[in-house]
Amino acid sequence: MTSALTEATHLDAPVIVTEIPGPRSAALHAERTRAITDGFGVALPVFIDHADGAVLVDVDGNRFIDLASGIAVTSVGAAHPRVAERVAAQAARFTHTCFMVTEYESFIRVAEWLNARVPGDWDKRTALFSTGAEAVENAVKIARKHTGRPRVLVLDEAYHGRSLLTMAMTAKEHPYRTGFGPFPEDVVVRATNGNRLRSGLDTDEALAEVERVITEHGPEMFAAMVVEPIQGEGGFNVPQPSFLAGLAELARRHGIVFVVDEIQAGLGRTGRMFASEHDGVAGDLTLTAKALGAGLPISAVTGRADIMNSVHVGGLGGTYAGNPIACEAALAVFEVLDDPATLANVARIESAVRDRLDPLVAEIAVVADVRGRGAMLAIEFADTDLTPRPDLTAEISRACHQAGVLTLTTGTHGNVIRLLPPLIAEPELVARGVDILVAAIRELTA
Ligand SMILES: *Cc1c(COP(=O)(O)O)cnc(C)c1O
Repeated sequence: MTSALTEATHLDAPVIVTEIPGPRSAALHAERTRAITDGFGVALPVFIDHADGAVLVDVDGNRFIDLASGIAVTSVGAAHPRVAERVAAQAARFTHTCFMVTEYESFIRVAEWLNARVPGDWDKRTALFSTGAEAVENAVKIARKHTGRPRVLVLDEAYHGRSLLTMAMTAKEHPYRTGFGPFPEDVVVRATNGNRLRSGLDTDEALAEVERVITEHGPEMFAAMVVEPIQGEGGFNVPQPSFLAGLAELARRHGIVFVVDEIQAGLGRTGRMFASEHDGVAGDLTLTAKALGAGLPISAVTGRADIMNSVHVGGLGGTYAGNPIACEAALAVFEVLDDPATLANVARIESAVRDRLDPLVAEIAVVADVRGRGAMLAIEFADTDLTPRPDLTAEISRACHQAGVLTLTTGTHGNVIRLLPPLIAEPELVARGVDILVAAIRELTA
């Protein structure tokens, strides 16, 4: 049997046969603007016909190296045969019952896998939902029910979603919050993330500052502290050493439920099954979504049995929560993640990217930082006084798109290019994509 890795991948990219976007994409985009709200943006306006491992093929026949994975979702590639197989078989059996109406086995199997793999050496329970924001909202509900307390502590530069509460928990004003207020500001309290480049605080100072905020508002007011083990939309901010462990200790000491939002960084993305493992930290509750369903909407709250079971019967749920087709997709994802070849491949991707990007920090003044872990790596552009360069960042990303490499920008200041290749991408293909990125950086900074 060929491994899940080689089966799903292909090396024939980039191949650019038209201008970008090509004529068929451009025509569809014109139709899009007549049919679809302007409220949706788009990173690269090409329409995808099919995918092949870490390669996206558009309707004009252009082949892109995928360094985005649909924002850390298609970790097994956007067309993994096991996902396709399981999804098709389940769709033929039944598409939905609502787990609160009648049950099905796959929901249990997904929960069991998460209970076994999520960090924390204690009895666990899982609740499945559909989106990441829904997992965050439910973690807050569960923590409130468990503690009887109202508030949530979040960090600077956090991203937790676009629903009304999670938008309030999200830090970045534009485009996520502009014009959508008022927000429940006496529910959500923000403290420093100890940003290594910009906060000017070391770990101890940052932790002291977080504790000051907790004390100022009263520890007995906080149900939950919600943190990303590596901040995604905030710019791939890796916490300073011992910062996450210090936050976990602060939460425990003050009776606050410690919630780790692994929605972007979890499930193999950083080279460990969960990003919090790098810091030796376990959430009381751990959140997963994005890569969990390989693109089918499914999310989870997994955590301490006593906290998860503090909710009354009927208090949690949702029409589509843990939909059976999405559960089958998750079970296919687990097969790939449980293959040791997958995390080994992430380590090779990390080396391929680091070998190419790390030297640029010393070489090019406007390259302020290269950071991240595993297949979650980023490069930040700023002047030497740290003034962010979103203009240059967008230009470089556009140049990559024109050359057939799908990159995404991110960060509080929009001055970070993030790389999120599928975990199953051939390191050679990722290296080719990053070489194109490096060439674009050199050309546009010369
Ligand atoms: C994407 C994301 C979310 C929100 O997930 P949705 O499925 O878009 O609702 C929450 N937290 C983090 C860290 C994310 O990256």
